[in-house]
Amino acid sequence: MVHSKSVLDSEAKVWRGIWHAEAPARCRSVAWRACKEELPVKSLLVQKRILDDATCPCCGNGAETTAHALLHCEEIKRVWFASPLGLRVEALSGVTSVSQLIEQCVSVLDEKAMGMVCAIIWSVWHRRNVRLWKDKKLDCKHVMGRAWSVIARQKWAPPPVQHVKANFGAVVRDSVGTGMGVVFRNSLGVVLASGTNLLEDETFEPEIGGALCYKWAVEQSGELGFSNVIFETDCKVLHSQWNLITEGKGSSGVSFLDSLLEDCKVMIDGTGSSFSLVRPTANKVAQRLAAAAFDYGEKIWMKVVPEEASLDLQSDMPASADK
Ligand SMILES: [Zn+2]
Repeated sequence: MVHSKSVLDSEAKVWRGIWHAEAPARCRSVAWRACKEELPVKSLLVQKRILDDATCPCCGNGAETTAHALLHCEEIKRVWFASPLGLRVEALSGVTSVSQLIEQCVSVLDEKAMGMVCAIIWSVWHRRNVRLWKDKKLDCKHVMGRAWSVIARQKWAPPPVQHVKANFGAVVRDSVGTGMGVVFRNSLGVVLASGTNLLEDETFEPEIGGALCYKWAVEQSGELGFSNVIFETDCKVLHSQWNLITEGKGSSGVSFLDSLLEDCKVMIDGTGSSFSLVRPTANKVAQRLAAAAFDYGEKIWMKVVPEEASLDLQSDMPASADK
């Protein structure tokens, strides 16, 4: 096969964009296979005479090509719009394939944002497979949650200078209650304060427990006089719902979760604070404190964490533990 120079150029551009994207190899691999039209979408299987019906398993509207499955399928458009990229698939002129999308993205996005693109493609493809093989329907916030989570930080990192990082987490124990933990650290990794809280006999869905804990952590940070706080959770659903609400793309104030997040949004407005997602491995101290809440109840420690969490605290800062 002879390719013209411009085809080879654009393929090389797409390849570089995916190769350098800040996302795990499994995400980049799905993105690359999508660009090469190698994902086993139904229209490809019909072409190979393995199937005789190419109808999209998600929407039932039209043939499932790669571009349909990953871009144009009705529910997928919502995912792209809800993402931090705020992409309106309808408005992309001249984009009829994933490869063309990547080529356009590479010109305007950095490696981190390209990582997000690959993670979304990977998560959307996962959603399609779950729908096809398990007949399970994952909604937009689950798809976004998975995408965020796969590119989230795996190791705890201190905040920038003049910032405070607040890791928080909740543990829900059936018929016992909801334990919460928070730890505030500065740019040197030094503990400023830590705390536990217990809602006895109250149990919730994990993301509701997380949202209650977030609200409590925001209140504590206010009482302690912190500003520029980076709140960190490892709850995917909480984080993606937060993004939908703060970006005005969610149905705000409808559910209990939404109203809790609305409260938090009002509370941190103008304080220079932000909210991000990390992997559970980067949120161990908070999780340990949440478990300890069942013993301590409501308590605040200044400049230290209780003994239960001290090993996790050390493992977050391996360099300083050597000194
Ligand atoms: Zn569809």
